[in-house]
Amino acid sequence: MSDERKEAAQDIALPSYMRAIVFDGQKAVWQPRQPLPEPRSGESLLKILLAGVCNTDKEILRGYRPDFKGVMGHEFVAVVVRSDQPALIGRRVCGEINLVCHTCLYCRSGRPHHCSYRRVPGISGKDGCFAEYMTLPTELLHLVPDTLADEQAVYCEPLAAALEIPEQNHIRPSQELAVLGDGRLAFMVAQVLALSGAPVTVIGHHPEKLDRFKPFARTLLQPEGSYEVVVDATGQPAGLTTAVGLTRSGGRLIIKSTYADLSQIDMSEIVVRELQIDGSRCGPFEPALRLLEKGWVRLPEVERYRPEAFAEAFASRAFKAAIDFREVDKRD
Ligand SMILES: [Zn+2]
Ligand SMILES: [Zn+2]
Repeated sequence: MSDERKEAAQDIALPSYMRAIVFDGQKAVWQPRQPLPEPRSGESLLKILLAGVCNTDKEILRGYRPDFKGVMGHEFVAVVVRSDQPALIGRRVCGEINLVCHTCLYCRSGRPHHCSYRRVPGISGKDGCFAEYMTLPTELLHLVPDTLADEQAVYCEPLAAALEIPEQNHIRPSQELAVLGDGRLAFMVAQVLALSGAPVTVIGHHPEKLDRFKPFARTLLQPEGSYEVVVDATGQPAGLTTAVGLTRSGGRLIIKSTYADLSQIDMSEIVVRELQIDGSRCGPFEPALRLLEKGWVRLPEVERYRPEAFAEAFASRAFKAAIDFREVDKRD
């Protein structure tokens, strides 16, 4: 971007209020006059372009995070409008979601994602991206390559979450792998695993969703067979029970799902069959952006909704729904 355009972005007079979708502790409410957030030291102010709806957002509506109140949403593409790093102003970014303290035991021992004082936009202690503007520590921002459309870049966070699996585990290309679930996270996980060369089986309930997996995975409508590594990406407690049954003795079970309900599994079976169980959450953004830029990951079309139609976006059965804040500008 030219210097003039950067200055223009910096000079843009900001409104005092913005439109936002706020979780009030029980439900999502439309806030047409939410005060604009003020960036703290080390933070940038972002103007949201496109914000992805995630299963976690739906779980928050179901009580997954009873102590959270504030602007919802954590997957986004945005433009930097104020920053302590002037070179970023006017640039398009996506952002990591773990706000950490840098001083606690976890931060000092190379596990900042487990910071004792971790805050997460739209999930824990921090306003999220279902609003026209949000603030985020500048250190968490990643430049989006110009060749990527907003609709592609909004997949960065879920793709990074999928990449956390090979970040944590040695995935052997000769091992049989299974992914439980046919939603968006499962779609990212299955592709990341398939890129290793391993044979991947995807098990889901929706034939029309499973069709999308066929270019890179075998698909099944019923659980069947046994696998060295099983990933639960169903987003439902029952998925874990099924996943245990599909994992070979001495094999590994990776859990990507988070949900409001508790799951019930027979822990003795885990002991007797010596299963390894890994929780797996957020992953690395730069590798995700590289895969997106190279076009090595298929991305289903994004179904876009106006911010006021957030309830429809949350209820959408689309593979991927997103709230489009660019439309707000167009209407003004
Ligand atoms: Zn998410
Ligand atoms: Zn910390």
